This record gives sequence, C-alpha cells and structure tokens, in this order.
Amino acid sequence: MDVVALGASPDARPGETKNAAPIGGGFKPLAGAPAPAARKAAGTGHSVVVERCQVCDWPQLEPVLFLGYLPPVNTMHAIGARPSEQPAYPAQVLRCPKCSLVQLGLVVDPAVLFPPTYPYTSGTTRVLRENFAELAREVASLYPLEPTDLVVDIGSNDGTLLSNFADRGPVLGIEPTNAGRLAVEAGIPTYISFFNRSTVRRIVAEEGQAKLVTATNVFAHVENVHEVVESVLELMHDDGLFVTESHYLLPLVRTMQYDTVYHEHLRYYSLASLKHLLEMHDLEVVHAKAIPTHGGSIRVYASRKGKHPVRDTVAAMLTAEAPELTAQKLKDFARKVVHTKLGLCKLLQDVKSKGQRIYGVGAPSRASTLVNYVGIDEGVVDCVLEIHGSHKIGKYMPGTLIPVLEETKLFEDQPEYAMLFSWHIADELIPKLRQRGFKGKFIVPLPEPRVVS
Ligand SMILES: [Zn+2]
Repeated sequence: MDVVALGASPDARPGETKNAAPIGGGFKPLAGAPAPAARKAAGTGHSVVVERCQVCDWPQLEPVLFLGYLPPVNTMHAIGARPSEQPAYPAQVLRCPKCSLVQLGLVVDPAVLFPPTYPYTSGTTRVLRENFAELAREVASLYPLEPTDLVVDIGSNDGTLLSNFADRGPVLGIEPTNAGRLAVEAGIPTYISFFNRSTVRRIVAEEGQAKLVTATNVFAHVENVHEVVESVLELMHDDGLFVTESHYLLPLVRTMQYDTVYHEHLRYYSLASLKHLLEMHDLEVVHAKAIPTHGGSIRVYASRKGKHPVRDTVAAMLTAEAPELTAQKLKDFARKVVHTKLGLCKLLQDVKSKGQRIYGVGAPSRASTLVNYVGIDEGVVDCVLEIHGSHKIGKYMPGTLIPVLEETKLFEDQPEYAMLFSWHIADELIPKLRQRGFKGKFIVPLPEPRVVS
C-alpha cells in the first residue's frame, strides 16, 4: 500500500502553509480587487473569524455546513499521556453569494496547525508523481516550451514536479522547508525560501521571468491568496502561463468528502470561484480540467488576457459544475452529511452490539475530521493502523484516545472489521489488504456507509 493510503497526507505540507506567514508590506491590490481583511491569523498563535469573503470581501457569507469544533489534525498526544489541554476550532463552511467561493469560517495561525514538533513528511506519493508526469505531458502537447524557457514551481517540495520538466530546459523550485535541500541534492535548482515579493525579485534578476509557473496545493492553504497571485504576475513572463492545482469542490460535494474539511484548507474552489479570483488580477483562465489527486482536484491554466486562446474546456467545465454547486445543492449536501453520520453510527452500533472489533486503517488528516465529527472513540474503534515508519504511530488520534499502532497488528489480530479512513481509494486498498492476508470485513464510511465482505 502506498503512503497516501496510510495517512502521510500529501495535503499536510508544512512548507506550503507556512507561505501564509506575513510577507512584509508592499502588496497593493489592483483597482477592483478589494483589500483583503485587515486582521491576519498568521503569527498571532490564535485564529481569526472570517467575517467577509476571503477573495471578494463580500460581507454576507451564507452558512453551508457546521462540523463542530475540531482539534488541529497534526496535534497528537503520546499514547499513555493523560489528556491535556488541546484547542478545538469551529469548522463552519460558508459560501459567498457574490463570487460563489466556498470557504472555511475561521483562519487558524499556521504555527498552531504545524507545531515545530510535527515532523516533516514528504507528500510525494504515486498518485501525485503520476499526476505531475501527466501535467508535463499536457504542457508539452498544448503549450510547448522552448529549450531556454524557465519553469518555476511554487512550494516545490522535493522537486518531484520539476523533475518532469528538467530534461527540456531550465527549472527552479521555491521551497521553504528542508525538502528543498532534497531537491537540490537530486539536481533540481531550488531557492530555500518562502514565496514572496523579495524572492520573486531575486529570481527575476538572476534567472529572468518564467514562461511557466506552477503552484499545486498552495491556493487553498495560504491566508492571503491575492498576495500570491500578485507575486506570480511579477514572476511570470508577459505571455507566460500559470498552472494551479487545488482540491475541487465538485467531487467534494458529489462524493461526500466533507472529511477533507479541516483548518489547513481555507478554501474549496470551483472553476467559477477560481476564475473570479484570477480575473480580479487580470488573469484569464485558458484551460481547465479535473484531475484525480486528493480525491478530486482541479487544474487550471491562466495567462494574461488575450495571450492564449481560451479553450472549450473552460466553458464546458463551468457549464457542468454550475447546476451541481448551487446554494440549494450545497444545502442538500449538508443534509446528506448528517445522514451519513447517522448511517455510520447505526452500522457501528450493529457491529459493536455483537461484541466485534473494528480497527481503523490509515490516519490521514481527513480521518481526524471524520472521527471527531461522527464522535468515534476508542470504545468503537480499538485502534488505527499506520504503515511502519509513520510518525503517527505511538500517538492518539486527534481529540480521542484511539491509539495509532503499526499495521502488522491488522494481520496478526484479524479483527472482524477494518474501517478504511482513506475510503476515497477503497477500491485500491481492499484488494491490497486482502492480498496481504486480512480476512475480516471492511467498513467504508463514505460516501454511503457500507460493509464490504
Ligand atoms: Zn466572494
């Protein structure tokens, strides 16, 4: 089973979220782009309630869903430790009626979400690697680069994305964490730095502007996304392209992935809301597509207005998503979330009333949301299993006394049930666990709670 299955969650990339730290002055919103909210969470040690739309500043946000108060997904106490004080933050999902952005109603200081004790975990998994290779093929076919064209990746991690572009010409990563050093060792030039105006100015002075700028899983995480876009504009060549990948709201709603709601994810984009954001900075979306990473993401290509033809994919995707993401559809989604919770509780009760054991498989960040929202404790799920080497082993699941243990226990103990917390890849996991000798049944908690024999 690959790493993503067992919780080295690729969305928990501390370096990227740290980009949200205050980035010195100098950001001047464009005319028409309202100033972002004055209060920032980054650096405060606390949280800030979202009173106005994070993108368009609209003051009347509509509540969509409330998942209660959730602990930070990366704060896990050692097994055996007496429960001690732990913060919990309200997880309310809001929708902006003006720009349609779906967003979290609270911004928590990244320093709280990523404590220094949280060990860095590389987010590079097979699915991500394949996705980046496919991105490089798509760029080569749709927007071929010259051998001298520079490609820059923001939040470049260990350089996996850029390795797909390195053979054809110059590449440069920007990564604040030690993962950037791994990239350098692997031959990918990398600035070990936050992505901000001063880094961009240095790059432009030393390397020139980039023909292609990529940013995967940055856009949903950073507190001030306008500042990122402005820096991208400065970095990007006049007829360059900006490619961004983010969680996509459509599959989130369609397949009940409410468990991807936690405080690292500040925004849940549709193409319409991303387009609105980019257009505030005079960028035009020229191509868009759905991609499979993180249970369903969206890849968007943007350029300065009129520099590249707008492909039919943009209108097609907008037309397809619009009827699925109306305020009414989001209400239906919220109602279904409650129903799945009740359905799962009933299923769990049936199992527990027979005195049978349930072991959880995988402790990705999303498991914390599910466990805390549904109210699962150690009396329901005996333990959660992670692959050998996971830093989560030896800790309790956030907000609970459910211990995280090594996955060999699943095959040794053969509990009657294994509950899949990476349920979005259940079809991939079940045969693997069977092959490795697990004989019990599987509980797949979402999109519809079910047992697989
Ligand atoms: Zn808005």
